[in-house]
Amino acid sequence: MKSCDQITSLRQRVQAFRSAGERVAFVPTMGNLHQGHLELVRQARERAERVVVSIYVNPTQFGAGEDLDAYPRTLERDRQMLEQEGADLLFIPNDSVMYGDGRRSDLTRVEVPGVSEQLCGASRPGHFIGVATVVAKLLNMVQPDLALFGEKDYQQLLVIRRMVAELNIFVEIVGIPTFREPDGLAMSSRNGYLSAEERTLAPLLNRVLQSMCRQLLGGGADFLALEEAGKEQLREAGFEPDYLSIRQQNLELPTVGGENMVILAAARLGSTRLIDNCSLFLR
Ligand code: AMP
Repeated sequence: MKSCDQITSLRQRVQAFRSAGERVAFVPTMGNLHQGHLELVRQARERAERVVVSIYVNPTQFGAGEDLDAYPRTLERDRQMLEQEGADLLFIPNDSVMYGDGRRSDLTRVEVPGVSEQLCGASRPGHFIGVATVVAKLLNMVQPDLALFGEKDYQQLLVIRRMVAELNIFVEIVGIPTFREPDGLAMSSRNGYLSAEERTLAPLLNRVLQSMCRQLLGGGADFLALEEAGKEQLREAGFEPDYLSIRQQNLELPTVGGENMVILAAARLGSTRLIDNCSLFLR
């Protein structure tokens, strides 16, 4: 696996793939890789001859007081994992490659209104502007045929799909189902922040979502009552729920008789913010 940290060398390498008639799949990450990330790489390999992965901890998607400085950086281990998984090219830009002179307040930004301000966007103001901006920049730098994102970050995937559609970025966006620990906890780089005791409690988040899904599938239609009961269950176990929300799959408020739903949750366990979601199809 080759690595590069400059846009010119990235472009040369991707151009060489294209000249050989090879399709290029792209997996953007913030590193500290786990099996969830590697699943994206495996899925990418099934869909394209070449796989480009980026590792960049994007400062503009972290708010003040969030874990930007503490975010785990494990480049050598990540590199080995990607090598074993058969990725072809690793792009590791630094802040000045990505943003010129760092976090200037006058940077060009990408804003996707409507889907961005609610749920995670409400608790993390500006987060999705940072995400959309860095993903737009990365897509322009790599110019892949397809880019893969995890459904674990459901709202992020929606923001990216809309951005790509509305800015006419010529790329196919592929969503990949959430990869989980055997006990159901969604894999996340932030799971490493959990204490041993918190780690045993953490899978409850997914169990609550699964139980709400079953209740909806069984005909439950009092969405507010279901949300409140789920939050209460989380609180009793020691979580601090940020939101637990039943939505249509486009994130609009649900309607009784609606068919495609998603339940999304974010909750703090100690100082760790966990997110998860569960999609369901009612008929
Ligand atoms: P991150 O490094 O957290 O920015 O994640 C990079 C990509 O991996 C994003 O598209 C995430 O949605 C995806 N991802 C993270 N965790 C998982 C998981 N458990 N299963 C599937 N995809 C994931």
